[in-house]
Amino acid sequence: REATLPAMNEFELIEHYFRGWRGSHPDLILGQGDDCLIWHPRRATVMSIDTAVEGRHFPAQSSGAQAAQRAFLPALSDLAAMGAEPAFFTLALTLPGPMDDAWLDAFARRLSELSEHYGLVLAGGDTTSGPCRVISLQMHGLVDAPLRRDGVQPDDDLWVSGFPGRAAAALPSVLNPAQASAPVDWVAAYWSPEPRIELGQRLVGLASAAIDVSDGLAADCGHLARASGLNLLIETSMLPQAPSFQGYPEDQVGSWILSGGDDYELAFTAAPGQRDAITALAAMLNLPLTRIGRAQTGDGQVLIRHNGEAHTLSKTGFQHF
Ligand code: ADP
Ligand code: MG
Repeated sequence: REATLPAMNEFELIEHYFRGWRGSHPDLILGQGDDCLIWHPRRATVMSIDTAVEGRHFPAQSSGAQAAQRAFLPALSDLAAMGAEPAFFTLALTLPGPMDDAWLDAFARRLSELSEHYGLVLAGGDTTSGPCRVISLQMHGLVDAPLRRDGVQPDDDLWVSGFPGRAAAALPSVLNPAQASAPVDWVAAYWSPEPRIELGQRLVGLASAAIDVSDGLAADCGHLARASGLNLLIETSMLPQAPSFQGYPEDQVGSWILSGGDDYELAFTAAPGQRDAITALAAMLNLPLTRIGRAQTGDGQVLIRHNGEAHTLSKTGFQHF
């Protein structure tokens, strides 16, 4: 592979694939086309950048559409975790030569569909050549009172959305489609995780802290615990089990749920007085919200209670990867 972009030059490429997408935002004074975009927000802006590298964050044989999903959806999930309303994003794209028009066309189409669906404007970016595909997305959202990691209070309940663990369960078949097969809901959890944007926004005022689960439920709860200077106790008997996990060994399922990343569900804490409101929210969103434990005084640990005994994660035998 040569490190050039033949056929179209950089400007033609941007013009062809990344201009003229639908969408606008009242606070975006100037989008693509100048040296900088101009953003004049009326509320606080949260921003997050995420990079997806070919062969690392998405398999090298991914289609353009699959790569777009694996780059965009996890990046957007950070806005959900802060309770923000999506506003705009920028795209820094590195592509190897020779240019693969079909791949880039599928990538740009899917990215434009996703950004339209979630209500974000593509407001700028950068395009370069390089040794492999690298997709960096900076997401920008609006929120008056962001959900932070450091807000957990003693005796808060710990909650999680959806059925975490399925993206991790899908991994063997994602990496080796010829040799392994997986239920469709696992494969969907990997290739098109659903950023919990509406949940995040509705948790503002209800939740005391939140994080999106990218590295694994236990590990990410560890970030909440450390940031807040408290312990979080997870009860394995309370963990939500995807119906498609039925029939798999308990240890395997526990490992998927507690240690598997890539689902982008939200883990959050809330005062016990919010239980009814959160249950009503679950019904309204048609999304399971499950109480899985609680906060207690401590020094920033996650404790897993399994069969009546509390351990740190490494001692439960759930950490297989
Ligand atoms: P500069 O050289 O001043 O950094 P560029 O040549 O990188 O400008 O980009 C020209 C314009 O095209 C800028 O407004 C930039 O935001 C936009 N742009 C470049 N690459 C992309 C992309 N992949 N997606 C969207 N906009 C892009
Ligand atoms: Mg540039």
